[in-house]
Amino acid sequence: MTFSHTKAITTFTLLFMLMAVISLIAIKKLQYSASTALAARTASVLALTINKARISYSQNSVAALRDHPDISVQALYHGKQYAIPNPATFAIELGVAISDPDNGLILHTFSNYPFSSRQSNAGPQDSFQIAALQKLNSNNRVFERVEMIGKNNVLRHAEAIFMEESCVDCHNSHPDSPKKDWQVGDMRGAVDISMPLSTDDEELTNTVQYAYVIFVAFSVIGLVCMFITIKRANNLSTELEQKVKERTVILNKLARTDSLTLIANRRYFEEFSQEIFNKKSTCAWPVALLVYDLDYFKSVNDTYGHNIGDECLKAVVNAVNLTMRNSQDFHARIGGEEFAIILHGVTNIELEKITQLILTNVSNVVIPANADIHITCSIGSTLATRDSNPTMKKMMGLADKALYQAKLSGRNQACHLDYIDSP
Ligand code: GH3
Ligand code: MG
Ligand code: MG
Repeated sequence: MTFSHTKAITTFTLLFMLMAVISLIAIKKLQYSASTALAARTASVLALTINKARISYSQNSVAALRDHPDISVQALYHGKQYAIPNPATFAIELGVAISDPDNGLILHTFSNYPFSSRQSNAGPQDSFQIAALQKLNSNNRVFERVEMIGKNNVLRHAEAIFMEESCVDCHNSHPDSPKKDWQVGDMRGAVDISMPLSTDDEELTNTVQYAYVIFVAFSVIGLVCMFITIKRANNLSTELEQKVKERTVILNKLARTDSLTLIANRRYFEEFSQEIFNKKSTCAWPVALLVYDLDYFKSVNDTYGHNIGDECLKAVVNAVNLTMRNSQDFHARIGGEEFAIILHGVTNIELEKITQLILTNVSNVVIPANADIHITCSIGSTLATRDSNPTMKKMMGLADKALYQAKLSGRNQACHLDYIDSP
């Protein structure tokens, strides 16, 4: 796997982990917001219930019994015969009855104008209630705050209570009332409901956990699919690279190969020659260059046709290939029926042997369908040491000169000119 793919996978994995942490925090926040919203809604319903119950009690029960000669409506009615609670006491006691302080649920009705008989517990009891009366007096319908009460984290929800028609006369005339100018619709107090914020609500927690597990599962599946895609793309590009390399090797080989005889062509011969005389080259010296040309080949073509001529060229190349010592020896077709051989680390004696072997092998070539064809070649050669500081151009000039001499001397023979012999 390449560096960029590893980097991409590492980046995506880190991103995924970051997303998982962020979404976990977001989900916790969502859970908290959901439980706060639920608490606010429940508190609102409770406030409405207490208010409606107080109004109903005031309008239906208290109003009906107020003029009864034996029954009195009192704030502190406990222990008194035929006394019933006034609406405020009724609402306060209803709130106390519903409250569950150990678990953080507390309902408390309070006012800036408590009756003197109830001043100790009907006025604002803490900073929340003081702040609530201020806010609700400034036309806010609801005032809420999250607080710790004991060990419980609670949402405190305060709602205004307004003066009802059924209450206004009583409040303006009651001797305990500290305010005598009440009008219908005045804010007479507020109800404070502390709702526990249960973040460990089982159903909510389960839903949230379920949502989180689904999110993580889908993310993991997405991540795995991405890894597979990246890996597949990586494999494809590696395969492609491999194919391109293979094709390039084939194309290079084709560009360097003579299509008829399948040995090196002239272009490759020139490249190879350059390489030998490159100062960094590690090839063994001395280096010999042989140039051979088929004798009277034009007449073979003329007599047997070009195709048979081609057969002869292939057969000659195969016969000469047999004289090559190893893969270092270089054999190329540099013209129509003209060839060159470069031998590394060769002595004059070895060169002489190889030259004679070439003459023999070529003259032994048999073309099966035309056994009467007899082919020979002429060879020109030269040999240079590293010290003589040779160039391929000069070596080629010497080998050509030697070939010309071989042709002049009657063909089917070799001539040699040492590089140091060159003028
Ligand atoms: P010499 O001994 O002086 O070399 O005589 P030669 O007839 O071989 O003369 P030369 O080398 O000038 O002739 C080359 C001939 O080689 C000419 C052409 O008909 C033939 N030839 C060149 N290339 C090809 C080839 O690809 N296929 C075939 N069949 N013949 C070729
Ligand atoms: Mg020839
Ligand atoms: Mg020729």
